[in-house]
Parts: sequence; structure tokens; C-alpha cells
Amino acid sequence: MQKELRMLSWVNPFLEVGKTKKYGNGVFAKKNLKKDEVLTVFGGYVIPIDEFKKLSVEMQEYAYQISENLLFGPVSENEVCISEYFNHSCNPNAGFRDQLTLVSMKDINVGEEITFDYAVCMTSDILDLKCLCESDDCRKYIKGNDWKKTELQKKYNGYFQPYIREMIDKK
Ligand SMILES: [Zn+2]
Repeated sequence: MQKELRMLSWVNPFLEVGKTKKYGNGVFAKKNLKKDEVLTVFGGYVIPIDEFKKLSVEMQEYAYQISENLLFGPVSENEVCISEYFNHSCNPNAGFRDQLTLVSMKDINVGEEITFDYAVCMTSDILDLKCLCESDDCRKYIKGNDWKKTELQKKYNGYFQPYIREMIDKK
């Protein structure tokens, strides 16, 4: 990771990048954090889904969805910062407060990896990954329609991207 003076995202100073056992880089807590602390305010570009598909596979991994047809994230390697290294977990400790703000969903201990469930932001079928999180409630495969699962809607109530909250409310 390149250290830039100007970064697109604000990242809580008590977070750092470290190596995970299965996913390469991840983000870890450098001190104990309380529930509902701001972890990151994401910065980036609004990327229409067709444009997103033209990005390199590496860059695609750094974007997340903010509406049915738009993604959000950096578009070039030198814009990548800590905030792009949050991994998925089916038993996560973070979620979204609004389109751009990632917060802790529970108290987090020093050394713990910060993760969120990609179901809280992704609804497109571009999300299709084999999960290696091995938590008790691991779904094994993470798909773009996972947000429709009632148990996830309960589990992440208040932590979904706003456009997904709206879709849930409409149903
Ligand atoms: Zn899992």
C-alpha cells in the first residue's frame, strides 16, 4: 500500500492494515473500540455499474454499492488506502450508518479484524464469492440477493446501505 499525503477516505486512527490468514490484507483494531464508533468515512468516485465492469479485477474489489446501479470507490491503484481492505465476514463487527460511513456494530477488542457482511451494501449479482470466514453462521457462498434473507435483515437492522433499507421497507 502506498502512503499518500492526501487520501480519499478518512480512517479512524486506531485502525491499521495487517495480514489475515485467508484473505490477504485486512483491517485490524489497534485499541478497544466501542459500539457505534465511526471507523471510516469512505471517499471515492460514484461509478455506474457498466463502468465498474471495465475496471481491473483488483480495482473492482475495492468498490461497494451505494444504489441499485451505482458503486463507490477508488478507480486507480494510487488512490487505494486502508479503507479498501475491509473483508467480508458472516459474523461481522461493522456496518453502514449511511452511504459513506462505516461504524462498529459492537464493542471491538484490540487486535480484532474489522469486517462487515457484504450483504449490507451489495445487491448486484457481481457479488458472488466463496466465503472462508468459518463463523458458526457462515453462508459459504455470498451472493447479491443475500439481503433478502429475513434473518440478515434482522441481524443488520440499522446497518444496511440506505438504498437497501428502502427496498426492505417497501417489501
Ligand atoms: Zn462466511
